[in-house]
Amino acid sequence: MFTTGSTWKGCINRVYYQVQDKRSIIEFIRSMNSRLNMSGILMYYGIDFDGEDMDRYKVLCPFHNDHTPSLHVITDNESGQDSWVCYVCNENGDCFRFLQRMTTTHQEAVEHAQEIIASIGAGYAANPAYQKALEQRKQKKKAEEIIYRLGVKYREWLDSIKDKPFHKQACKKVETIFYDLTLLMEAKQYEETTARVREKARLLQVIITGNKQDG
Ligand SMILES: [Zn+2]
Repeated sequence: MFTTGSTWKGCINRVYYQVQDKRSIIEFIRSMNSRLNMSGILMYYGIDFDGEDMDRYKVLCPFHNDHTPSLHVITDNESGQDSWVCYVCNENGDCFRFLQRMTTTHQEAVEHAQEIIASIGAGYAANPAYQKALEQRKQKKKAEEIIYRLGVKYREWLDSIKDKPFHKQACKKVETIFYDLTLLMEAKQYEETTARVREKARLLQVIITGNKQDG
């Protein structure tokens, strides 16, 4: 409030400049947010994500000891602006708020924002992290498809030997194979998974052929 020894004009001026300053900061953050997006930010900090084409996806939250992805990234359909929320930390915000949480000073957050905006402007194609993420998504899709096809084959085979004495043993074996594949997928070893599925498909063929010769 008005303190002794200062003129009312001085006070008005101070208040006016404070408001101006606050306005310009809000305006500055707004302009940063309009040029930032969460995929660019996640790539910058090396946080894995695979939902770049979706308007809602989850990633491991960097603000608490997260083991299952609990930080939601949401894109507003109208404005196209990204925001985030973690229900474990009870925190949320826009892109710039994420940078503020990742850094210790305002200056550092601004520097990160500028670097991220530059990498977005240069196009993701030039970004090796983006290339890696893209390649991973392709490999994941391929591995998922090939596991699905193996599953269908195994099901047909198990159905065809339902009455045979080794049916139960075969079921156990198939269960083990799929458990191993699930572990590989969870470890994001998609190429290794694809190779393993091919090997198991060949094994299946050998078993079926041998079984047919026996029967
Ligand atoms: Zn969190």
